[in-house]
Amino acid sequence: MVARHDQTTDPELLAALLQARRGTAFFARKLNELTDAELDGASLLPGWTRRHVTAHIGYNARAIARLVEWAGTGVETPMYASTSVRDHEINFGATLSPIALRNLFDHSAVHLSVEWRDLPEDAWHHKVRTIQGREVPATETVWMRTREVWMHAVDLDNGATFADIPAPVLERLLTDITGAWKARGTDAGLVVKVTDRDLTFGDSTSASPTVVSGPLAAVVEWAAGRGHGGVTASGPAAPNGMVPAAPKWI
Ligand code: ZN
Repeated sequence: MVARHDQTTDPELLAALLQARRGTAFFARKLNELTDAELDGASLLPGWTRRHVTAHIGYNARAIARLVEWAGTGVETPMYASTSVRDHEINFGATLSPIALRNLFDHSAVHLSVEWRDLPEDAWHHKVRTIQGREVPATETVWMRTREVWMHAVDLDNGATFADIPAPVLERLLTDITGAWKARGTDAGLVVKVTDRDLTFGDSTSASPTVVSGPLAAVVEWAAGRGHGGVTASGPAAPNGMVPAAPKWI
């Protein structure tokens, strides 16, 4: 008999699970608003239609579910056999019939939610490995999914914006993105200011940095490479206030 509620009782983890499930519901809503014909339309991601985004989100749930199963059983089951297998899978998924594509999204999302629900408390700390080779506790799978569903809901280009994403998710996203820049050293001379939260990220050592600032949602949209509406820039890399492109993130 499986439990009908999450096995974990950790309040922080339960809050994170709620954020992931809300994001999934939000993606579902934006997807369900699209007609079958509109699935063929372009997404915000270069070279990807809405079909690609939907297939990616479906296969992403399956890949993350494999990590949760790994944490639960101790039997190593990688996210994907390789990045080329992942890419091939997305391209294949994009050719599915609309009903099959929608089923892929729905079923994979439910499956992942059940895997999370039934994972015993202690197994959440078991280590698994992401496609990037990072060793993380199973708790990290919740964030991995959260950022995918919220951001790619915007990528469906169906009216969702970064302002629809909850502030805690936006803040963690910005922490991830600026952390990736720092790890690669691509944030040299760049400071990012979140005006409505009093948060500052980026290179604190530069005497004359380029400063990109704006409200949280706009700053994250810019940092994620999705546009520069609502942000302003000044400094050496921003002649006449022209907002520079954000460093690459993934
Ligand atoms: Zn993605």
